[in-house]
Amino acid sequence: MHDVIVIGAGLAGLRCAGLLSARGLDVVVLDAADAVGGRQRTDIVDGFRLDRGFQVLNPAYPALRRSVDLTTLALGSFPVGVRVRTIDGMAELRHPVRHPLSIIASLRSGLVSGRDAVALARWAGPALVHPLSRLARNDVTVREGWDAAGLRGPLRTAVLEPFLAGVLAERGGETSNAFARLLVRYFALGRPGLPAQGIAAVPEQLAAHARAAGAGIRLGAGAERLSAFPGGIRVDLTDGDSVRAARVVVAVGPDAVADLTGLARPATNGLQTWWFAATDPPTASALLTVDGRGRGQGPVVNTVVMTHTVPSYAPAGRHLIAATCLLPHGSDPAEESDVRRHLGEIWGADVSAWELIRRDDIDDALPAQRAPLRAPRSPRYAERLYIAGDHRDTASINGALVSGERAARAILTDAGSSARAR
Ligand SMILES: Cc1cc2nc3c(=O)[nH]c(=O)nc-3n(C[C@H](O)[C@H](O)[C@H](O)COP(=O)(O)OP(=O)(O)OC[C@H]3O[C@@H](n4cnc5c(N)ncnc54)[C@H](O)[C@@H]3O)c2cc1C
Repeated sequence: MHDVIVIGAGLAGLRCAGLLSARGLDVVVLDAADAVGGRQRTDIVDGFRLDRGFQVLNPAYPALRRSVDLTTLALGSFPVGVRVRTIDGMAELRHPVRHPLSIIASLRSGLVSGRDAVALARWAGPALVHPLSRLARNDVTVREGWDAAGLRGPLRTAVLEPFLAGVLAERGGETSNAFARLLVRYFALGRPGLPAQGIAAVPEQLAAHARAAGAGIRLGAGAERLSAFPGGIRVDLTDGDSVRAARVVVAVGPDAVADLTGLARPATNGLQTWWFAATDPPTASALLTVDGRGRGQGPVVNTVVMTHTVPSYAPAGRHLIAATCLLPHGSDPAEESDVRRHLGEIWGADVSAWELIRRDDIDDALPAQRAPLRAPRSPRYAERLYIAGDHRDTASINGALVSGERAARAILTDAGSSARAR
């Protein structure tokens, strides 16, 4: 019998397992998939490195900084800013603190009025100085937050709304204002990027830490049922095997947690990423690009030439372009013809020769982080049973890691260890 079984080798489960093993506990991680990583996987397809859905890694995430060695990830960093397709052409908005001269170009773009700039500072400013608990007081939706700040012009409709739609995986403005401000703080503090080997390098490093500390990781091991017995919990696997431990952490993600625990299924938002290969990139810019011409223009919420930031994502002489769409539950996924038409408009380029390498439809990409923002949920769910994952904290890489740390701390406390997880 093990001390702890962790079900799920995503960020939350791996972080939890690594901390517990480092404290001398006998830990085994079970995952139904054929590799660790959960929502952070990378595949090599025709020499291209494709993450399972476009995502970025923000090195400012505190839990990331204490969990992994960022240096060995060899991050390629995206420029801080956004390109916006407007009716008149293409505008670039860069981070005003990092690129002071860009303020002139931003003002000239017509996207930033003085009134909007003041309203943005009113909305985002507190996020730079106050902790999340303070921001979450009297939380409203981000739509209401912008209204209250007086942010109503093109900076909102042509820049923030389309940009945050891709980050939050929804465009109705229903997300918690406090959470949106927290993300803006991270964007202000860090320069998001991607590991040279793909996003999967993050969980792979966590798995290596956990293994080095003594944890076992069993892949292809789907958990089907949990049953308590005196002094522990038995986990029955889909292949008929069963494993026992004194304590179990369910770190399976919002799509599967209800089946194993009876917890209500957390609400989620979906994302769809289209990966295209091209010989000639449509731009020399590495900035993320959005359509600022208003809703209804097409399905793409953001697009970027990946290889300008992480050249290792494509074979020599080729470029990889990501295009992300929302995937609301119950709606039909975007059609390729529509995506190509919209990309042609956004880039102002002929994209007909681009080769579609893969399309990733991820129904449960992110837990919906609705207002009011809830305090992080306790990892203790039942006697000897714990739950971890981004749906227990904030919908992010940081949230997943923090929840894994919290579960580890709870177990160390409950198991009678006075030691605290670092
Ligand atoms: C397209 C996309 C874009 C994103 N963009 C960003 C971003 O830019 N920034 C950001 O911070 N976050 C982003 N995220 C979110 C981030 O990836 C997640 O928050 C994080 O990876 C969640 O980790 P987790 O450990 O909570 O869950 P998961 O990664 O879902 O891990 C759960 C694991 O449990 C396993 N499992 C499930 N059921 C069973 C079972 N019955 N038995 C055994 N194993 C099981 C699964 O195989 C999986 O490995 C994005 C996610 C997606 C999908």
